[in-house]
Amino acid sequence: MINSKELYRNYSDYLVERFGEKVYKIPISISGTCPNRDGKLGTGGCIFCGEEGAGHETLSKEILPVEQFKRNSQYISKRYKANKFIPYFQDFTNTYMPVEEFKKNISQVCLENVVGIAISTRPDCIDKKYLLALADIQKNFGIKIYIELGLQSVNYKTLKKINRGHTLAEFIDSVLMIKEFGFDICVHVILNLPWDDIEDTIECAKVLSALKVDGVKLHALYIDKNTKMAELFNSGDIDIIDLEEYVDRVVEFLAYLSGDIVIQRLVGRAPEENTLFVNWNRSWWIIKDMIENQMRAKGIRQGIKCDYLGGKALK
Ligand code: SF4
Repeated sequence: MINSKELYRNYSDYLVERFGEKVYKIPISISGTCPNRDGKLGTGGCIFCGEEGAGHETLSKEILPVEQFKRNSQYISKRYKANKFIPYFQDFTNTYMPVEEFKKNISQVCLENVVGIAISTRPDCIDKKYLLALADIQKNFGIKIYIELGLQSVNYKTLKKINRGHTLAEFIDSVLMIKEFGFDICVHVILNLPWDDIEDTIECAKVLSALKVDGVKLHALYIDKNTKMAELFNSGDIDIIDLEEYVDRVVEFLAYLSGDIVIQRLVGRAPEENTLFVNWNRSWWIIKDMIENQMRAKGIRQGIKCDYLGGKALK
């Protein structure tokens, strides 16, 4: 049987290639909000975003970043005999604070066993000031910088419907800015937003490949009880595609996505409490198996349909 390493470029292999051994990401919480929630751009946030942002796995932001890092990394170190780590500033918008505060938060976790820093943010919350601060950190501590951008959909009409507060243009702008600094970019996308179809899925793979991003994280939409998305779901105003259709979309996405892009996450996980809908009530690994099995059955590999860049009509 063809193993998953041959189907798509997986993240754990990338980390071993890059750092010579297994590396573990340690989630850290420093931000409690974002401009789409605190009134700067809006107050409701994205219509699927719950009170925790993406932070159900993190410790409280009241604990110093260095303390959060030490607690979690010591636990992982004992459990998996891990030596190298990437602190991951995960929930809400981690560049949405004064740049000096941002720099102080990041610098304190640049310890001896840290090989990189991952920072999750919105495309409209990164500019040259933050990128210069990160360039300093990279130089001073000799670590790699990974920036994770939430995009969710390339369909700018869907972005409006989910109240993202930015369009596709801001995303492209941030990718181009970050590229100038040579930092790695990983993009978060949801392939089953109710207003998107398979054409949006394919276009998403094509746009990310054309922009030469470095990684992607896929997530199926989950519906947190206390959100506008939950209201739409309960009133029957939105439908969620079935699991088989979702698997088809992921397989097509991977077929069109450049083979160089690392799949940091194939199937997302979410807490079941406070949610109305998560992963069709299946374990994440069942969905992963379904995706991989369909790739095997159809003879699909990541990038097999990525023939559209660099002057397709001339080929
Ligand atoms: S940008 Fe992120 S943190 Fe802000 S509302 Fe949207 S999903 Fe939530």
